[in-house]
This record gives sequence, C-alpha cells and structure tokens, in this order.
Amino acid sequence: MSVYEDAAKILAATKKAVAFSGAGISAESGIPTFRDPGGLWDQFDPEEFGTVQGIMGVFQRRPEVIREFLFNTVNIFEKSGPNRAHLALAELERMGIMKTVITQNIDNLHTDAGNTHVLEVHGNLFRARCTRCGRRYPLDKQSFLRKAREALEDREHFGIQTVLSIMPPCECGGVTRPDVVMFGEAVQCLNQSFKEASESEVLLVLGTSGVVYPAAAIPHQARQAEARIIEINAAENSYQGITDVFIKEPSGEAMPKVMDHLRKIVAR
Ligand code: NAD
Repeated sequence: MSVYEDAAKILAATKKAVAFSGAGISAESGIPTFRDPGGLWDQFDPEEFGTVQGIMGVFQRRPEVIREFLFNTVNIFEKSGPNRAHLALAELERMGIMKTVITQNIDNLHTDAGNTHVLEVHGNLFRARCTRCGRRYPLDKQSFLRKAREALEDREHFGIQTVLSIMPPCECGGVTRPDVVMFGEAVQCLNQSFKEASESEVLLVLGTSGVVYPAAAIPHQARQAEARIIEINAAENSYQGITDVFIKEPSGEAMPKVMDHLRKIVAR
C-alpha cells in the first residue's frame, strides 16, 4: 500500500480531522517560505523585517529598502492564489472530514480556497488592526494590493506617510496596521487551536518546519490526545517520532494523490 493510500484510509475513517499548515503549503502558490533558499528572505533578513523596531530602524536608515521590500511583497501576493493543496483541504471540509484548519500563514489562501473555519495563529495580512483600540477590519485583498502598488509607485514621495495612507483609519481615529504577528508579539487564537488539535482524531500537518513556537507545539498536543498524525513536507519530517504517515513531497503534488484514493474509498 502506498503512503497516499495510507493517508487516505486514515482520513476516510474520521469526521474529526484538523489541518495544521505552514509556509510550505503556499510555496507552490509562489509565496516564498522563510527557510527555503532563493526566496524573499534571502534578500531581506526576517529578523530585521519581522519586528516593528527592525522595520522602523530600516525606515530611518534606508527607506528605499523598505519600499523595495513592500514592492516585492505586493508583487508576490498579487500573483498568488490557492494551489491544489489548499483546494484539497477545502474539499475535505465539504466532505465532512475536516472541521478546522489551523495555519501559521498570513496569506488568506485557506479562506480563498473555501475553508470556512480557519484559525490564523500568526494573523492575516489582509486584515487591519487598530494600534489604539484593537478593532479589526477585513481588507479586500485585490483593492488593498492595488492601493499599495499605487502608493509605492511614487518613489519620490515615499515615506512613513505612504505606508499610513495604505492602511484604513480606525473609527476611533487611531492608526491601523496589518494584523500580523511579528517576532516577539502574542500569537492569536492559540488556546482555541490547542483545544481543536486536542479534540481532533487526525492532524494533517503540511509544509511546516515546526520550529516557530508556540504554534509548533500543536502537533505534539494532538498526539498526546491520541490523534493520528499525517505529515506532508517537501524535504523533512519535522515531527519525526510522532508521525503515523509521512509523505516527502510538495503538498500540491501529494494532496491530489491522497484525494484520489480518498474519493475511491468513500465511494465504495
Ligand atoms: P518555514 O519557512 O520555517 O518552513 C517551511 C517548511 O515547508 C519547510 O519544512 C520546507 O521543507 C517545507 N516546504 C517547502 N516547500 C514545500 C511544499 N511545496 N510542500 C510541502 N512542504 C514544503 O515555515 P513555517 O514552519 O510555517 O514557519 C515560518 C513562519 O513564517 C510561519 O510562522 C509563518 O507565519 C511565516 N510565513 C508565512 C508565509 C505565508 O503566509 N505564506 C510565508 C513565509 C513565512
């Protein structure tokens, strides 16, 4: 029996599967991961661009670098859409097999694919949060990116005001920022994620290096509560020791094969 069939059998036997995804699931959508070579993060140090202080420091010293970083980011997100792994998770939800997706990604691609219950532990780039009162505002992805591109194209007048002009003002008069969790900031919906992982019968882990804590502890929590663990990773078995089935392949290639077996098993 193949690993795809093994995974499909485990999924077919449950109505309580939960997915736990990381940057790798979106790699085939054109969004670079943190740790794979050749991506955005080879050019821009995530330690520096991953903290508010770091960004403010670069802003003061080298504003053109911030503009370049934001431009690159807009270019990447304008072109990205859900890939076959995201679409497979949405199909698992429609089949009544998967209830929740817990993601470390900020790209909104699980929601774009059709999953309706997505816990975003590191926030969402397409949501604004007021820095004064904490109120949150969903942003329309395409119009937000269009506005950002227009503002960034004006190279001559680029500055902190450009960035502020991209974000909507809050009702309270406060300034908003993208609702993403930077290094050192509190993770979002963590308790609920741990609870859902504990209540799952199967945890499907896709495209994560499992090194960014506390989110990386979620599969261990699920395992302690006796969930079966299926992991898909293009390179490494990040949860070796607690994994029941490991598929070493890009998730956009592996998931369609798992789904083919699953549809056959369910139709029997
Ligand atoms: P990571 O960059 O640390 O690790 C990515 C993992 O995905 C690696 O183990 C790699 O082997 C694997 N991988 C690469 N391509 C793959 C593919 N096609 N299919 C399956 N696996 C693949 O990512 P992480 O563990 O999610 O941690 C980094 C943090 O950076 C996350 O917390 C996230 O918030 C943030 N981040 C998010 C995005 C996004 O929103 N798409 C992108 C980059 C970083």
